[in-house]
Amino acid sequence: MKVTFLGTNGWFDTSTGNTVSVLVQADGYDLIFDAGNGIAKADHYISQEKPVFLFLSHFHIDHIAGLHTLAKFRLKQGLRIYCLPGGAALLHTFVGEPFTVPLEKLPFSAHAIELEEGIHKIPFIVECRPLVHPAPCYGYRVEIDGRVIAYCTDTGVCDNAVLLARDADLLITECGLKPGDTSELWPHLNPQDAIGIAQKAHAKRLALMHFGAEVYKTLGDRTALQEQFGREFPGLIVATDDLTIDV
Ligand SMILES: [Zn+2]
Ligand SMILES: [Zn+2]
Repeated sequence: MKVTFLGTNGWFDTSTGNTVSVLVQADGYDLIFDAGNGIAKADHYISQEKPVFLFLSHFHIDHIAGLHTLAKFRLKQGLRIYCLPGGAALLHTFVGEPFTVPLEKLPFSAHAIELEEGIHKIPFIVECRPLVHPAPCYGYRVEIDGRVIAYCTDTGVCDNAVLLARDADLLITECGLKPGDTSELWPHLNPQDAIGIAQKAHAKRLALMHFGAEVYKTLGDRTALQEQFGREFPGLIVATDDLTIDV
């Protein structure tokens, strides 16, 4: 399957990219993780013929800002938006008047579905677990077409990130901080933290995204990570907007 990074910035858009959104194109479904501004590019890649499943990690605006672009899509088999308990009401507020076209008035069917922590068959397997963040936040693990993809952002180092990423073909996680930096009041990962989680979980590959827009000011700041840490974790991918990889 193909994984395309539609938006790879944390917090706000800059010349390095849009805020976070990741597209996973499986045989029968198109999956999207988070709806930062990058989601507006999804129709450059998908045919809009398959059902689209959108998984929201949390409601910080860099993860939902792109929802106001949903009205331009024509998803022939509709959209299911999975979120935390209590998230459906938030979605109907944010994707509603006076902010934008309400969910129920989009030109395709769109439903918000809250997931309890645990493992669900929707019909493919999805596991969701809380991460460590100032706001309630889910990490996800999906098993589809014989592959396992874990998506864990925004978070500090935590056991649930390791649990979700266990033996994953690909762990997609955040890199909010520069190497060696920490942020105790507002937990995020630096590249060493992310590699530590991937190693502990025995993930085969690790894609870094959600680069803190205020600290990774140029794409060169990102590629430096590949040089610095590529040997330590050979499956390291430093994502940029519109990068597509096969999984
Ligand atoms: Zn974020
Ligand atoms: Zn956040």
